[in-house]
Amino acid sequence: MGDPFVYLAEWQVLLCTSCGYCLRPGRDVWVRHLRQAPHLLRGASLKALVELFASYVLRAAEAEPGQLPTEVISGLRLLNGFQCLTCSAYLTRDYKAMQRHVSKAHQQKPALHEKSPLWREYKLQTFFAENRWVRYFVVSGATGAIDASTKSLDSGEADFFRQLDEDAVTAEEDAKAEANIVHGFDSHRSAVVPWLRRTGIEEHTWGLKKDEMHASFLAPRNADDEPELFLMLEVMDEIFTEAHS
Ligand SMILES: [Zn+2]
Ligand SMILES: [Zn+2]
Repeated sequence: MGDPFVYLAEWQVLLCTSCGYCLRPGRDVWVRHLRQAPHLLRGASLKALVELFASYVLRAAEAEPGQLPTEVISGLRLLNGFQCLTCSAYLTRDYKAMQRHVSKAHQQKPALHEKSPLWREYKLQTFFAENRWVRYFVVSGATGAIDASTKSLDSGEADFFRQLDEDAVTAEEDAKAEANIVHGFDSHRSAVVPWLRRTGIEEHTWGLKKDEMHASFLAPRNADDEPELFLMLEVMDEIFTEAHS
């Protein structure tokens, strides 16, 4: 198998055809991705790819492209889903979520779908697979051959689908955003952690999003900012990996 990484200049995304989704821009994202299965890259081959990726013009995951693809993108995972026929904008892989949508957004009785269709089955794709960056688009030109080329579900792929399903079910974006905020430690079960307060960690992390919090204490992994530290971490990771294998 050749290089699984494809730069799609038209969409300014970097597609991993082994995993079936695009990698968000950022050296830390790439390094993490390349270290993990199925890639398991280390050392020079990892660095070479990171350098190659850094030469691409990539769109931030949160930036909406002016236009979304309409033709199937090969190598990107193909998903079965539904499109609301009333607004066309609502796409989901979750049948129940579609029922809730037509009822809530359009005051349509889902049961009426039997008489005249309220939604249609479509093939969907999304550039990014992480819950918060999933943005489905409808694609045509999907053939059986593409379906057949989708590998059988190993556990990683099953996780991918579970993740996407969970995303579809979680319609309450606000609730989701709220759940992502770190509250004061008072409201948390682990309220008695005086050292967190004493060291100022509590103050430092209050109100941060949980993913931001991770970044707030994560060692810098950006080879641009901290080239030496980056190298040291790389080497240490390799030592630990060897020690544990
Ligand atoms: Zn991959
Ligand atoms: Zn709709």
